[in-house]
Amino acid sequence: MDTKAEIRTLQHFIGGEWVDAEDGGLFDVVNPLDDSLYARAAKGTGNDVRRAVAAAKSAFPEYRETLPKDRERWLLRVAEIMEERKAELFDCLIDEIGSPIQKAMFEYEKGLTMVRAAAGMCRKVRGETYPSDAPGKFSMSIREPRGVVAVITPFNVPLIKTARLVANALAVGNTVVHLPSEMAPHLTVLFAEIVAEAGFPAGAYNVVTGIGHEIGDDLTGHKDVDFVTFTGSSVVGQHIAEICARNKTPNTLELGGKSPTVILADADLDKAVPMAARSIFMFAGQACIGSSRFYVERPLYDEFVKRFAMVASKVGMGDLRDPETVIAPIISERQRKRVRDHIADAVAKGATVVTGGEWIGNRCQPTLLTDVTEEMTVCKTETFGPVTSIYPIDSYEEGLEKANDTEYGLSSAIFTKDINRAFHFARNIGAGMCHINGATIHDEAHVPFGGNGESGVGREGTDADLEAMTELKWVTVQL
Ligand code: NAD
Repeated sequence: MDTKAEIRTLQHFIGGEWVDAEDGGLFDVVNPLDDSLYARAAKGTGNDVRRAVAAAKSAFPEYRETLPKDRERWLLRVAEIMEERKAELFDCLIDEIGSPIQKAMFEYEKGLTMVRAAAGMCRKVRGETYPSDAPGKFSMSIREPRGVVAVITPFNVPLIKTARLVANALAVGNTVVHLPSEMAPHLTVLFAEIVAEAGFPAGAYNVVTGIGHEIGDDLTGHKDVDFVTFTGSSVVGQHIAEICARNKTPNTLELGGKSPTVILADADLDKAVPMAARSIFMFAGQACIGSSRFYVERPLYDEFVKRFAMVASKVGMGDLRDPETVIAPIISERQRKRVRDHIADAVAKGATVVTGGEWIGNRCQPTLLTDVTEEMTVCKTETFGPVTSIYPIDSYEEGLEKANDTEYGLSSAIFTKDINRAFHFARNIGAGMCHINGATIHDEAHVPFGGNGESGVGREGTDADLEAMTELKWVTVQL
C-alpha cells in the first residue's frame, strides 16, 4: 500500500494569508529514506522575509494587548488540534525527515506538552516591586514582550522546536517570523495551519519557507527583528551571533554537541547499556544531545563494549512505521558523506569498528568505535550519525578530565552508585545539562535546556524563554 501523501506545494504564511514566493520560486523537499520527491515549497526571497517581518511588526501592537486568557485558550486549542491531526503530523515526521514511528511518537508527545506548558506562561509575565531610597517613591519592574521574534529551527526535531519556541514566544505576547529548515518545511506549515485554526490573530505567526543560507541573514539582520532564537549547527550559530552582535539583537543559540557519558566501575550495566543505546541511536544519532563519547572505567570496559555491541547489532532498521525500528535514514547526501568520512577517517587512522560501519540504503548501521585517538575527526567533531566512540579510563578523575576535553558543552551523563562522585561530576562537567544514571537524551518543557561554548548561548524552556523573550522595564511612581 502506498502510504505517501500526495505531493504538496507549500506556501508561506504571512499576515494570515497563504502566499507564494514573490517570484513564484519553489524548491524540492525529498524523503531521506529513498530521496523521492516529498513536497515542493515556496523558495523564499529576501523580499518575502521582509514582508513577513512587516506583517509581524504591524500585528505586534494589537497582539501584545491580547489578554492572557485568550492566548492561553488559543494555545490550548493548538494542542487540541494537534491531537485531532496527530496522524498527519506522524506521517509528516516519518516521510519528510525519516523519523521512525517511535521517534515521531516521542517528538509528538513532547511537542504537545510544550504547547500546553506554554499556555501556562501567559499568566506568568510579571515583574517585582523594590524598596526605594527616595522618600515616597514606588518602584517596580514590569515585563514586556520584545516585539518580533525570529525563530530558526533545524531538521531533526522540527515539531519539538517549533512547538516550544513558537508557542513560548506567542505566549508572552511576541509576534513571530519562523524560518524552518529547508529539509522540514512541511511540519512547520502544518503547525501554521493549526495555529491559524486555533484562532490566533493574523500576523501573530508568520512562516517563510526557503533556503536558510540564502535568506537567513535577511531575517536575523533585519532591524525590526527584536529577538532571534536559533537552533542548528555551531558554524551557522557563530555567523548569526556576529550579525546579532552588530545589531545588538538579543538571542539564544542552541547548537551542536559532543556529549560525553562516563561509566564508573560501580555502574549498573543492566541500566547503563540500554541508556547508552538510547543516547546515540535514537533517530540514528541525529540529535544534538546524543552521546558520541563513552568513557568506561577499566574493570567494566570489556563487558560494556561486549554488551553495547550486542544491543547495537540488534537495533531495529526495518520499516519506519514498525514500532521496533530505531535507525532513521541520514537526512541528506551531504550529511551521509560526513558520517561516511568520519568512519573512514577513523578506520584509516587505526580505530576498530566493533560493530556497524556498513550502510543499508541511506541508513548507517549503529556503529561502535574503539581505539579512537585525537588525530581522528570523530574524536572531537560532531558526526550527527549513529556513531560513537568508547574509551577506557583508569579513574573517575580521568573520566571527568576527558569528558571536559571538548569545545562543546551541551549534555552529559554519568553512571555510578557513588552519590558524591555523581554530584562532583554534575558540578564540574562543563556542560549545560547533566543526567546522573540517565541518558544524555532528555528534555522537558519547563527545564533550562541548552549548552555552553560551541553548544550555544542561553537556555530554552518555559521559564528561560519567558525571561529571554521579554524585556524588563523599571517604572517608578512619585507618590
Ligand atoms: P544547520 O545549521 O545546517 O541549519 C539549521 C537552520 O539554520 C536551518 O533552518 C537552516 O536553513 C538555517 N540557516 C542556514 N544558514 C542560515 C543563515 N545564514 N541564517 C539563518 N539561518 C540559516 O543545522 P541542521 O543540519 O538543520 O541541524 C543539525 C544541527 O543542529 C546539529 O549541529 C545539531 O547538534 C544542532 N541542534 C542543536 C539543538 C540544540 O538544542 N542545541 C537541537 C537540535 C539540533
